[in-house]
Amino acid sequence: MNRYRLLPSDEAAAILELAGDIADRELAPLADDFEERGEFPREAVRVLGRAGLLGLPYDEADGGGGQPYEVYLQVLEVLAYRWLTVAEAVSVHTLACYPLAAFGSSAQRAEYLPGLLGGELLGGYCLTEPAGGSDAAALTTRAVRDGEDYVVNGTKAWITHAGVADFYQVFCRTGGPGPAGVSCVFADASTPGIVPARPERKMGLNASPTAQIAFDDARVPAGRLVGEEGEGFRIAMSALDAGRLGIAACAIGLAQAACDYATGYAKERQQFGTRIIDFQGVGFMLADMATQIEAARQLTLHAARLKDAGRPYGIVAAQAKLFATDMAMKVTTDAVQVLGGYGYVRDHPVERYMREAKVLQIVEGTNQIQRMVISRTMSR
Ligand SMILES: Cc1cc2nc3c(=O)[nH]c(=O)nc-3n(C[C@H](O)[C@H](O)[C@H](O)COP(=O)(O)OP(=O)(O)OC[C@H]3O[C@@H](n4cnc5c(N)ncnc54)[C@H](O)[C@@H]3O)c2cc1C
Repeated sequence: MNRYRLLPSDEAAAILELAGDIADRELAPLADDFEERGEFPREAVRVLGRAGLLGLPYDEADGGGGQPYEVYLQVLEVLAYRWLTVAEAVSVHTLACYPLAAFGSSAQRAEYLPGLLGGELLGGYCLTEPAGGSDAAALTTRAVRDGEDYVVNGTKAWITHAGVADFYQVFCRTGGPGPAGVSCVFADASTPGIVPARPERKMGLNASPTAQIAFDDARVPAGRLVGEEGEGFRIAMSALDAGRLGIAACAIGLAQAACDYATGYAKERQQFGTRIIDFQGVGFMLADMATQIEAARQLTLHAARLKDAGRPYGIVAAQAKLFATDMAMKVTTDAVQVLGGYGYVRDHPVERYMREAKVLQIVEGTNQIQRMVISRTMSR
């Protein structure tokens, strides 16, 4: 898998190797069992934290790994190759740290970031609401200033790590309607009045808890406001530009796992007295899968390198998220096809990969929303 990689430093190569070793030894052996039981692998995520893999793209001065975004994304890909739930956990945690790292005051960064990036704490990102998904600017969760606190009331929906996170970035309304009335606060999960609901019963990613969270007179200290009042929507969108690349990297790792598994199977399985990979119909399908994966990888890394260079990258990130996640859906579906009937049962992992790929087309902006973002820029 590393044969064609271009990495910016020897240190990056060592980090990628470390991530691969941990994923092989500590993650892959647990995946089937935890997914079957729907249990979040909290300890496995802690192992990544202790290895320094939970704050990779953030400044070393803030307690992060000081690595380029392109390195962080390749680590995510390596993790997703073994277990999507864990890669997604790292991606969501990184997203949840972004508002403080990019918009927090120096005092907030000094006080909170070393703990968040050091790996012992896990974050959640609370933007979506039951009635406001794609139209995030319509959110209604309200934060009202009362003395030294904000009092937060409302309901967030579909929150990854609800109930297992240690802190939440919460987007809430402090002003009037529309994006200008949205602010971002940072809340401890143990705050009285923050109440996660029972996890949703999902199609895949069963070990990753997703649930509504009720905010019922939850008092968050006013010093936990990130940026200025009214800046929350800009913070949320900026976080998602970077976060979408994490989802693209997860899609690439998942698709690579499906492609490699299907290729191995096609080399073993015989029909009509020959290996099925030698039938052009199967061999060409695998060739298309491998080509699409590489194209998605290069588009995603291109967006990351623009980000690392301080250049605008949001549109390329939307293209990468769109292309990589549509690609993963197609590749994992084709992997099931390569295995025939054996692809449709749980004895092989490809049916799980296919169920897991679907959610990547939905989270952090559906692929319709990515197309909207891209076409709006084109129509200007
Ligand atoms: C497993 C999982 C984990 C998640 N984790 C988080 C999380 O941690 N934090 C968080 O805040 N959210 C999270 N989400 C929420 C996710 O981001 C939303 O589900 C997503 O943004 C879509 O919102 P919605 O589900 O309300 O769909 P809707 O917005 O109701 O969309 C329904 C359909 O309409 C389409 N549509 C909507 N508007 C347009 C338009 N203008 N043009 C064309 N088509 C449109 C959509 O593409 C979709 O196909 C998660 C979701 C899932 C399933």
